[in-house]
Amino acid sequence: MTDDSCLFCRIIAGDVPSEVVYRDELILAFDDINPVAPVHQLIVPLRHVASAAELTERDAELLGRVFAVAADLAREAGLAAGGYRVVTNIGADAGQSVAHLHFHLIGGRVMAWPPG
Ligand code: 5GP
Ligand code: ZN
Repeated sequence: MTDDSCLFCRIIAGDVPSEVVYRDELILAFDDINPVAPVHQLIVPLRHVASAAELTERDAELLGRVFAVAADLAREAGLAAGGYRVVTNIGADAGQSVAHLHFHLIGGRVMAWPPG
């Protein structure tokens, strides 16, 4: 299902331009428009899912793909040795601003923990 009012569904459909770094039959990855680190990519399911709170065990293949592709993209970006972060925000308190499930792949600098 796609949602015309959803920004990431529009990016997936090609109606909104993006710098695509990976695509297959389950997911799309593209550069974040407002990067918070030297490498900042977003990995999203092609299917509209509002957030990780909606995932079930039936999404095991999707989640496996997300993390396998994140590792490949991190290697391609030269992040494997230094490390990186894969994170998904769920809801307002976590700072989720786009209601289409997305995993941030962030790296290329030292990061603090815990997050703000
Ligand atoms: P969230 O705050 O929901 O966890 O992350 C949403 C992310 O989407 C933010 O990092 C933001 O910079 C990114 N973003 C918002 N609008 C666009 C856009 O039009 N294109 C791209 N490539 N990224 C966007
Ligand atoms: Zn969507």
